[in-house]
Amino acid sequence: MTGHRLRRRLLVRGVVQGVGFRPFVYTTAAELALAGRVCNDSAGVIIEIEGDPADLDEFCRRLRERPPPLAVIEAIEESAIPVRGGTGFHIADSTCAGGGRTLASPDMAICADCAAEMRDPADRRYRHPFITCTNCGPRFTIIAGLPYDRDRTSMADFAMCRRCAAEYRDPADRRFHAQPIACPDCGPRLSYDGPGVGEPLTAARNLLREGGILAVKGIGGYHLACDATNEDAVARLRHRKRRGDKPFAVMVPDLDAARAVADVDDTAAALLAGPQRPIVLLARGRAGVAGSVAPGIPDLGVLLAYAPVHLLLFGLPGDEPGPQTLVMTSGNRGGEPICYDDDDARARLADLADAWLSHDRRILVPCDDSVVRLVDGAELPVRRSRGYAPLPLTLPAPIAPTLAVGADLKNTCAVGEGRYAWLSQHVGDMDDLATLRAFGDATEHLSALTGVRPVHLIADAHPRYRSALWARTHAGDRPVHTVQHHHAHIAAVMGEHGLGLEDTVLGIAFDGTGYGSDGAIWGGEVLAAGYKGYRRLAHLRYVPLAAGDTSVHRPYRMALAHLWAAGLDWSERIPSVRACPDVERKILAHQFRTGLGCTPTSSMGRLFDAVSSLAGVRHSVDYEAQAAIELEGLSRGIDGGASGYRFALDRSTDPAVIDPAPVIARVVADAVADVPVGVIGARFHAAVAALIVDLAVDFADGVSAVALSGGVFQNALLLSSATTLLRARGFHVLCHRRLPPNDGGLSFGQLLAGNAG
Ligand code: ZN
Ligand code: ZN
Ligand code: FE
Repeated sequence: MTGHRLRRRLLVRGVVQGVGFRPFVYTTAAELALAGRVCNDSAGVIIEIEGDPADLDEFCRRLRERPPPLAVIEAIEESAIPVRGGTGFHIADSTCAGGGRTLASPDMAICADCAAEMRDPADRRYRHPFITCTNCGPRFTIIAGLPYDRDRTSMADFAMCRRCAAEYRDPADRRFHAQPIACPDCGPRLSYDGPGVGEPLTAARNLLREGGILAVKGIGGYHLACDATNEDAVARLRHRKRRGDKPFAVMVPDLDAARAVADVDDTAAALLAGPQRPIVLLARGRAGVAGSVAPGIPDLGVLLAYAPVHLLLFGLPGDEPGPQTLVMTSGNRGGEPICYDDDDARARLADLADAWLSHDRRILVPCDDSVVRLVDGAELPVRRSRGYAPLPLTLPAPIAPTLAVGADLKNTCAVGEGRYAWLSQHVGDMDDLATLRAFGDATEHLSALTGVRPVHLIADAHPRYRSALWARTHAGDRPVHTVQHHHAHIAAVMGEHGLGLEDTVLGIAFDGTGYGSDGAIWGGEVLAAGYKGYRRLAHLRYVPLAAGDTSVHRPYRMALAHLWAAGLDWSERIPSVRACPDVERKILAHQFRTGLGCTPTSSMGRLFDAVSSLAGVRHSVDYEAQAAIELEGLSRGIDGGASGYRFALDRSTDPAVIDPAPVIARVVADAVADVPVGVIGARFHAAVAALIVDLAVDFADGVSAVALSGGVFQNALLLSSATTLLRARGFHVLCHRRLPPNDGGLSFGQLLAGNAG
């Protein structure tokens, strides 16, 4: 077949710029002796290749099957063009013509090649804290706008030296067009400010070894670090951060160190060591971290070092090693957004840190660490942020340019246009000014990175959500549409699984709080749903939520509400009743009788709170879902046996009502009879899983897809058992794999539902 030449033009769309795509194309073409050229374009990467047809096919196969690690190919458009002849393959200057858009890459952990160079005394980047290449390093957090080149990043502050510039221009070099390229001669510099003398990293390690708290500037912001095995240090950090009981994550240098503190199977290992390097929630191992790292729960959040500076902080061969397990928590005061600007960090973290390990490369946008759980060997995101944002998600149908503002807790926002949606990094709980400002910045940055200029906005239907208020104030003359909270949850999980505009599912939306169309607080909802709308088929029976926030923080109040609704006495023998002061009991009784200051709620999250309190696990919480998380932890691996815990279903009304009263009665009987809390918890989890299956059987009405969403499905025990039972009954189960089931995924659902109506 030699002598017969063809020429093809390929337009590759997706995350293909700034990820080593052109060098990859160049070397692949060279290996196959193909002629042609490659260039960046605002629509993606354009390749022209010419040669033997079999070689062209092989080239396309490699492009699809073995692209560079950070590339995400969304589509390849192929066309035949006239043969030009000639030999050689070259990288052409970028053009910026045409429509479409290219996509920015997330921040990626240091790659194996860079880590090896950093450890090699003969390499010119030996011990360089800012080593990167086309396959690794900061992206999202240093890019101000597109197209992605050095001028539009915070690396514009550093002029490349001659040697870096040569590497940058050499298509055969693994740093070809790596925008953050730097070396000890021309790159950013590390600095240390605190007690002790000497080289910054040595001084920092000494401080940590002595139990000090170190502010560390990393990729997406500042962390506060301390020795995770030092009880005093961890307790001091907890106290200074006013952190209460909320667990800290620990950072370790490598997988071996991770295996020492947690149970790490192959799936967990791959996730821990992958380029995103999220915090992975794992069952705690035998070896110790201090008790106050994660009090009251059997899991430990573990992440591997992901920035070069982290590896250097743990120490390279020849260093006197620092602590090998570090608490690494966001540099902020409880509830506030992470600090990323140097001056701001200096002010806000002044009395939290004993010393500072910083550097002079500016972080342009904050980005918290991501958090992932593993359920039956599959990923369940808890927080989607660094390493994932701003990777696009695809939409089932094209949409007009849209901004969806998400919810008020665990906020993310999202923009979409055409077939793409981009979710922001984790913004946080919108209850302070700093977070509102961070939210505004996140929407602007997302628009700058994607080029989406929203023509309408979508918000939650809650009339007092700050996110919704923000949308109305910032919309100008653009319309603001609203989407009901649980409809958005179900739309999000449908979209994740690529369901189409006409598809419908049976949606089970279980969460803590969402504004319902009747003004009640929903959260135990069964919906017949598609993107375009939903019908509420059933819900958990309303119980009175007295003085909303107070009852969220004190699960014993929810326990009393459920006892009251079930017609059960507030007997002193019940742990929740004993936990409630007498005066408060009298006030609650009055409120429940009269409805004064009460909002009806069908929240499943609050039912978990109530049961946790009734079983005696926890009566007050200082972080969201703490009571439920501890109940789950105690119930894991326990067989509750045939317990008789069973929800009642009243189908005489529309929507039907799920009554937890029989379950509450059995929980109380068990608690009073001193049945171990783990057994009560296991029985309750089994009852909720059985309820989900019963609801599916009762309400599916021919629909085979059951969608599970809402924060309650962060509960691995519940998700796992419900999924198993549903599959056994022949249902197709849709649960979250790429977005969190909690409100962190809500903006994506808003984008879908708000554009479908
Ligand atoms: Zn690298
Ligand atoms: Zn240099
Ligand atoms: Fe929710």
